[in-house]
Amino acid sequence: SQATPVPDAPGGNSRTVTVALDQRSYPIHIGAGLLGRAAEMVRVAGDWQRCAVVTDATVARLHLEALQANLSEARLAVDPVVVPAGESSKSFEQLAPLCEALLMRGIERGDAVIALGGGVIGDLAGFAASILRRGVALVQVPTTLLAQVDSSVGGKTGINTPQGKNLIGTFHQPRLVIADTDTLDTLPARELRAGYAEIVKYGLLGDAQFFAWLEENGLALLRGDAEARAYAIEKSCQMKSDIVAEDERESGKRALLNLGHTFGHALEAWAGYSGDLLHGEAVAIGVGLAFKLSEQLGLCPPGRHERVTAHLRAVGLPVAIGELGACGRGIPEPAELITHMMQDKKVTGGRLTFILVRDIGDAFITRDVAIDDLKRLLSEECR
Ligand code: NAD
Ligand code: MG
Repeated sequence: SQATPVPDAPGGNSRTVTVALDQRSYPIHIGAGLLGRAAEMVRVAGDWQRCAVVTDATVARLHLEALQANLSEARLAVDPVVVPAGESSKSFEQLAPLCEALLMRGIERGDAVIALGGGVIGDLAGFAASILRRGVALVQVPTTLLAQVDSSVGGKTGINTPQGKNLIGTFHQPRLVIADTDTLDTLPARELRAGYAEIVKYGLLGDAQFFAWLEENGLALLRGDAEARAYAIEKSCQMKSDIVAEDERESGKRALLNLGHTFGHALEAWAGYSGDLLHGEAVAIGVGLAFKLSEQLGLCPPGRHERVTAHLRAVGLPVAIGELGACGRGIPEPAELITHMMQDKKVTGGRLTFILVRDIGDAFITRDVAIDDLKRLLSEECR
């Protein structure tokens, strides 16, 4: 397939990754100080009359002014819409007033919605953009590390219901992603580490050299090294973008991005999606378990689980279910976790999908894990 050329990078020290989806290709601009230059990138990306920024209360306090002032100067802005911070905003209860607020601000088919925030805002505002007037343009301006390397790229949007997470949603690719690395300076360290777990995941699933680079540079990145941050974000976006370009709707290869997530989602469900266990922390434990299971099944040489968990531990991420005792809920029962795993969207015909590894940087998708092997692993782990 032929990639449509996408507009030039904004210059300066920024980097640009292109998501190649023919007519729907879009750039991801990564760099410092981009919020204050958003209008020029927006102008290049589309001929929109009005842009409505959607954000959460925390991000509004910290970063809305820089973006809104720049858009207003370019006569693009309408009043922003601010929703409460937190996962509970990914709900029908918040979606309805958000859609109405966008209509009240006069957002039409030729206008754009700008999602300024973490994955919660990206998913909620992205979903709203996809259904408003049967679909308006979406610009993602991710402000968490997780959103900059993962949720702002690839077009998945959605909300949660009492039945589960992300069960209602759409595919709606953004037209532009602006990842301003300066916004990460205000992010709590624990949120930063949780996003870092997804960066490690990219190395582990497809690029051993990148994982080795992270072993060397991960701590500096977390402590604020701007160059290391920008490089890791670029590398992660490039890997996600390559996979999405090949398999936009997850009929195959895109599932590799779920390395660590079959276990991770079950742990999050067990923890009740509370602040006790962040998604990235659950993924860190899940990645460890995927390596352990791969070694136990003889699919991966010995020692890899040790190397992977040593790095995750070194940056302060949890790597074993046993560590969950510290969050005050005790430790899950293997049967509970298996029940949660069976509710995953990726279960087909009662068979679980796992992403396992042949080595660091070499993951594959399988439906052939025997339930007894899974039970054995979990009963060792849940102690
Ligand atoms: P989040 O959006 O809730 O942000 C975490 C917290 O950080 C919030 O309290 C937020 O207000 C605050 N915050 C955001 N930016 C900040 C900043 N720069 N400084 C200080 N505080 C800031 O959570 P998240 O981890 O970014 O995203 C998690 C969500 O993303 C989940 O709902 C998950 O399902 C979704 N997700 C979606 C995809 C996808 O492909 N669509 C992929 C991964 C995750
Ligand atoms: Mg994830």
